[in-house]
Amino acid sequence: MKRVCVFCGSNRGGRAGYVTATRELATVLARGGISLVYGGGRVGLMGELANEVLRLGGQVTGVIPRQLVEREVGHTGLTDLRVVETMHERKALMADLADGFIALPGGLGTLEEIFEVWTWAQLGMHRKPIAFLDVGGYFQLLAEFLDQATREGFVRRQHRAIAIIDNDPAVLIQRMRAYNPPTVEKWIDREAT
Ligand code: AMP
Repeated sequence: MKRVCVFCGSNRGGRAGYVTATRELATVLARGGISLVYGGGRVGLMGELANEVLRLGGQVTGVIPRQLVEREVGHTGLTDLRVVETMHERKALMADLADGFIALPGGLGTLEEIFEVWTWAQLGMHRKPIAFLDVGGYFQLLAEFLDQATREGFVRRQHRAIAIIDNDPAVLIQRMRAYNPPTVEKWIDREAT
């Protein structure tokens, strides 16, 4: 795993622990020689993450739509900043560039981005690991909801199991490195539905 895409809040969240955990993840990436792909902004956890990876001598690629360069304060100090035209292009390029995906705590944008790559995984469109850094239990209610969706028959157990959830950044990366994609694709028993 050479490049990891991290989706995270354009806000810093209400507790200091979010920033601390973001910096810890940055340290694990930089020390592990894993370069960062992210949304290219300087605000919120996005900015914290990029700044810390850069400070530690790591490589950072930002991908930002032109319209957001001002709103998310495009980071000018990155190794590589790709300015694209649309949100869709941003997500497609981030997905292509990375060997795996991590969600840090964040809002609607973060959730939308990680869920999109997760749905691509269940369709067999890529075999890259998908992980959530569960800072202070931030993702626990989401995990419970997804368990419910699985119990209720809307998500296959194998697809629920794609997501790696851990509160330790180093363990999260180890588990991503060891990830085995499922062999069951979403449409395998289409006729049974
Ligand atoms: P948020 O988690 O809402 O703070 O947003 C985190 C990142 O997701 C920011 O870079 C937003 O520009 C981006 N974002 C917000 N909405 C969307 C969307 N619908 N699709 C893709 N990215 C989004």
